[in-house]
Amino acid sequence: MSDVRNVIIIGSGPAGYTAALYTARASLKPLVFEGAVTAGGALMNTTEVENFPGFQDGIMGPELMDNMRAQAERFGAELLPDDVVSVDLTGEIKTVTDTAGTVHQAKSIIVATGSQHRKLGLPNEDALSGRGVSWCATCDGFFFKDQDIAVIGGGDTAMEEATFLSRFAKSVTIVHRRDTLRASKAMQERAFADPKISFVWDSEVAEIQGDQKLSGLKLRNVKTGELSDLAVTGLFIAIGHDPRTELFKGQLELDEEGYLKVDAPSTRTNVTGVFAAGDVVDHTYRQAITAAGTGCSAALDSERFLAALA
Ligand code: FAD
Repeated sequence: MSDVRNVIIIGSGPAGYTAALYTARASLKPLVFEGAVTAGGALMNTTEVENFPGFQDGIMGPELMDNMRAQAERFGAELLPDDVVSVDLTGEIKTVTDTAGTVHQAKSIIVATGSQHRKLGLPNEDALSGRGVSWCATCDGFFFKDQDIAVIGGGDTAMEEATFLSRFAKSVTIVHRRDTLRASKAMQERAFADPKISFVWDSEVAEIQGDQKLSGLKLRNVKTGELSDLAVTGLFIAIGHDPRTELFKGQLELDEEGYLKVDAPSTRTNVTGVFAAGDVVDHTYRQAITAAGTGCSAALDSERFLAALA
């Protein structure tokens, strides 16, 4: 059993590293669990990030995350490239267990475990991520000016992504595996009324084509099995996200979609001393800057909580 820390941060995306930077600068000596395989978070899987303020010419995702990491480390954050496998958040001293079974103790915990976008599960999907394949129109739409784009999905997110993309794109084709949409009536009507948007019903992606860049899709009609080609240079996959909250089930309050609930605009969860930030809380914005922003809020909330204990 380790000494009792002031704060342990679980997660190493923009939310976790920003919380680490702020708590380290407040001399709280944070311990950060970065994750065993995916240290640095979602932006490690992308190429250029053009919308993080302060980088006039854009910055590559992994470089941005390396900078955030180094900045937190510079002020004394202790970083461990390991997963947390269980937590006990009851009581004043919280415990966190790592993959080796070592138990770490802290007075305060910041959860910043992010969310995982659902994948189609096809070969080429990861290889062409940032090279035509994307999960975020707000992030990448601008790169697809005057291009033909496919959006996969039938819910609100897919309609929102498609209507947003139609501002830049030459055409947007929504591919949906059913013959009706799940999206709200208002979102559907907006998409139906958009002259640049068309629909391919009852269909799924059978193949993502391209070598260094996406060159097209092979679609399969789920009713007839018939295959067809769709020539697109952009593919936006909008079939949902899964917040990484498995560890906290039964201990922290989750909403109906499994995201952590906080007492907004604070980052307080329903358990005293436990704060949450970034995409593990956020259904709506899902941006690096908003994750960093709430990471900062969580650090300040934790700092104030610890000060009140003293
Ligand atoms: P994440 O970045 O997801 O980080 C969470 C971290 O927690 C991960 O490192 C994970 O390993 C770790 N973790 C999870 N569970 C555990 C555990 N049990 N133990 C230890 N560690 C754990 N946003 C933009 O603003 N601009 C862009 O251009 C942009 N491009 C994107 C491109 C892609 C391909 C993707 C997927 C997303 C993009 N986004 C972009 C969105 C942005 O990446 C996210 O909004 C942001 O990373 C969320 O930050 P986060 O800190 O909440 O979580």
